[in-house]
Amino acid sequence: MTEHEFRDPIPLNDLSRGWIATSPEVRAAIDRVLTSGQYVHGPEHTALESELAAFQNAEQVVAVASGTDALSLALLGVGCGPGSEVVTAANAGGYTSVAAARLGCGIAYADVDPTTLVMTAATVASAIGPSTNAVVITHLYGNVADAQGIVDLCRPRGIAVVEDCAQAFGAVTEHGRRVGNAGDAAALSFYPTKNLGAAGDGGAVVTSDQRIGESVRSLRQYGWAEKYVVEHERGMNSRLDEIQAAILRVGLRTLDDRTARRRSIVRRYTQALAGRSAKMVSGATPSSVAHLAVLRSGERDAIRDAMHAAGVSTGVHYPVPDHLQPGLPRAVRVTPLPETEHAVKEILTIPCFPEMTDLEVERVCDLLRRTARA
Ligand SMILES: *Cc1c(COP(=O)(O)O)cnc(C)c1O
Repeated sequence: MTEHEFRDPIPLNDLSRGWIATSPEVRAAIDRVLTSGQYVHGPEHTALESELAAFQNAEQVVAVASGTDALSLALLGVGCGPGSEVVTAANAGGYTSVAAARLGCGIAYADVDPTTLVMTAATVASAIGPSTNAVVITHLYGNVADAQGIVDLCRPRGIAVVEDCAQAFGAVTEHGRRVGNAGDAAALSFYPTKNLGAAGDGGAVVTSDQRIGESVRSLRQYGWAEKYVVEHERGMNSRLDEIQAAILRVGLRTLDDRTARRRSIVRRYTQALAGRSAKMVSGATPSSVAHLAVLRSGERDAIRDAMHAAGVSTGVHYPVPDHLQPGLPRAVRVTPLPETEHAVKEILTIPCFPEMTDLEVERVCDLLRRTARA
């Protein structure tokens, strides 16, 4: 190890080293689209939708313009609209709250499990009320929540379940299926930093309910039944463009390999913290796809400062819970959120991306071993 290498900064993520930046197949895919003259809803888009459906083993995948649109469209698809009540977690970056608020839905929050930081059937049970219409489960940091347990709670009560798989796409649950198949619909995001990211924005709704699929398919394009005939209310323009679709098809083929690398990085961090009070949150569920490497520690600030002094970037996902965000509507019902509020002070995101070198991972492990107390 040279002196120079040791001092090189380590970013949280570096997309310039990623498959989009480096793959000749991506260049060829973009070129194919440019010469085709079809830039929206062409053959790449159709192929991506069916390849994603096969990957998910789901009936339908409807590609849309972003993960937030996918959440809004999935909520519309399960019948939510103005005045509906949506229950979700308050620690997941605000995306579901934004998506629900723009439909005019009321929002209530469920607390999370302190080890995995995702909702459980028990936390959802204490948060739902007689007028709850839908629950959105966020599989946070790549950790996979017990969606089936939450579905079993919600279905007899007539409550729809949407899974936010933006951070967990590709995870294989203990039922042997890809995450996102337990609820009525699931939302994916292809924002560039996601495990399957595009060179811009993108998203998708996954469902095996034909009625929901058809509704989302119409609503993403003005609510059209056919060209220029607006049949469904609250339609929007939320199309995924052809260049992004072509790029995503390339990335989908190697997603599982990149996920394996992310998981191995988080495993090494977990080993480095063995016997210490700091613990990895990512990887706390066996099927985690390690989207973000998040640790939890009472000495979070000291660990962060040591990382920064050594040139290692860190982040906090997320610093302000939804119920305390100034720009989000007040919750329609207040449930205490002690675990959510406690975790915010203790979480720290450390570097994790598939192209990290072993040397970089070892440097981060070394810092963890030196700064996290027993
Ligand atoms: C990124 C993300 C979203 C939103 O996706 P966009 O494509 O950025 O709109 C939603 N939920 C979660 C958990 C996310 O991480």
